[in-house]
Amino acid sequence: MSSSTETTRPSPAGLTEVKGRVIMPEDPTYDQARTVFYGGIDKRPTAIVRVSDVADVRRVITTARDEGYELAVRSGGHSIVGHSTTEGGIVIDLRGMSKIEIDPRARTAWVETGATAIQVTEALAEHGLVIGFGDSGSVGVGGITLGGGIGFLVRKFGMTIDSLLAAEVVTADGRHVRADANHHSDLFWAIRGGGGNFGVVTRLQFRLHELTQFTGGILILPATPETIAGFAAAALAAPDELSTIGNIMPAPPMPFLPNEVHGRLVIFAMIAFAGDDEAAKRAIAPFRSLATPIADMVKPGPYVGMYPPEDPSYHPTAVARTMFVNSIDASTAETVFEYLSKSDATMRVAQLRALGGAMARVPADATAYAHRSKPMLVNVAAFYQGEAEREGRRSWATEFARTLQPNDDAAYVGFLTDDGEARIRAAYPGATWDRLTRIKSVYDPSNLFRLNQNIPPEA
Ligand SMILES: Cc1cc2nc3c(=O)[nH]c(=O)nc-3n(C[C@H](O)[C@H](O)[C@H](O)COP(=O)(O)OP(=O)(O)OC[C@H]3O[C@@H](n4cnc5c(N)ncnc54)[C@H](O)[C@@H]3O)c2cc1C
Repeated sequence: MSSSTETTRPSPAGLTEVKGRVIMPEDPTYDQARTVFYGGIDKRPTAIVRVSDVADVRRVITTARDEGYELAVRSGGHSIVGHSTTEGGIVIDLRGMSKIEIDPRARTAWVETGATAIQVTEALAEHGLVIGFGDSGSVGVGGITLGGGIGFLVRKFGMTIDSLLAAEVVTADGRHVRADANHHSDLFWAIRGGGGNFGVVTRLQFRLHELTQFTGGILILPATPETIAGFAAAALAAPDELSTIGNIMPAPPMPFLPNEVHGRLVIFAMIAFAGDDEAAKRAIAPFRSLATPIADMVKPGPYVGMYPPEDPSYHPTAVARTMFVNSIDASTAETVFEYLSKSDATMRVAQLRALGGAMARVPADATAYAHRSKPMLVNVAAFYQGEAEREGRRSWATEFARTLQPNDDAAYVGFLTDDGEARIRAAYPGATWDRLTRIKSVYDPSNLFRLNQNIPPEA
């Protein structure tokens, strides 16, 4: 990739005042600093600014705005489309702002947005408290919360945004504002699901939930059309305490799996029961009885065990499509099985997430996430090796998704990729979109924050 941007523009003048670290292309840590979670994203920012406080965030916003640099905002770097980096622009990297302040008596916590889900989950575990994030420990609290947050506790405690009490935001004009039910309440509504469109969120205040008994882990079942349909039905019928993520995919070559299973289609399920052991056994029984499990590592233990250690050098290249469905009946399960069987991608997956429970009891207009009544979220994805494979994998994922859901474009913004404008609109149906664009006009009229699933200001 060309490095012309390094030489054709002078360094951003406004960054000289920054207290944190400004990493430019000549810095020996530049390549590491510009790397994001997904592979195949190879952008060269003019500067990556490891901000140390709110004043730094303000300086970078002002610099990008006044000197005409594209601005990317990064908390955990897990953007599926690489929105948290930029070619030639400036990255605000919040990872150095990761302070976690817990008030166990009030059951609240202030969390700086550069913290990761695992850091917060570990800190809360000491107090028997939780916030529900997603299925990845290394995701940034900033990105997952602003998108909505659907994870292992979604049916018991709702989405991540459903535990959000307040946020501190630096807006495009450099103001640092508090947004909550009584201050900038429109902004508070918008950032709960509207993504990074409205400013840089520096701190989030969460309501915490007590969780003293938990059962969870990996359950691997053979995948057949019958077990796939049975898994989906059991997941939808489960009590609120039970949230599941069923990944139908080739069995990875994990040491605890027999060799003959490697590469065969399995349901690699993450099971999470937020409650006591006996109730957990009863709730999980329908899944265990679908077929003789290939592996059953579901057991009582701390919730934090749901986040196994991750390899920081893991940067997969993948294509994905997301959708909502009402159920997976026998014929849809056949389709799932067929599509996964006919692909030769080293990793391909259909991921089933039953929703409902606490997340569905929040009114659709209470936050910018409006798809409260959708019963099930499905993601399909395939890894590709090298650019030459990309288009083929992409067509497979697009066709697979269209076959599973031909009628409804609705989407959860956290899992959108390069789906285009129509699908961003479909993530925010009807009045939600109109309200978001109005709020965008107030807080970011020039669309400075546009490296995201973009909501433009009202025309
Ligand atoms: C492996 C993997 C697993 C995932 N699993 C789940 C899951 O189980 N549930 C779920 O809900 N989602 C999940 N996601 C989606 C994930 O929540 C989003 O990609 C999210 O945006 C990532 O947040 P981040 O801070 O790590 O990413 P970043 O790449 O740092 O940020 C993504 C975007 O969010 C915005 N943003 C981030 N931080 C801020 C901030 N402080 N202020 C303003 N804007 C900000 C910016 O627009 C930025 O471009 C997963 C993603 C991956 C890669």
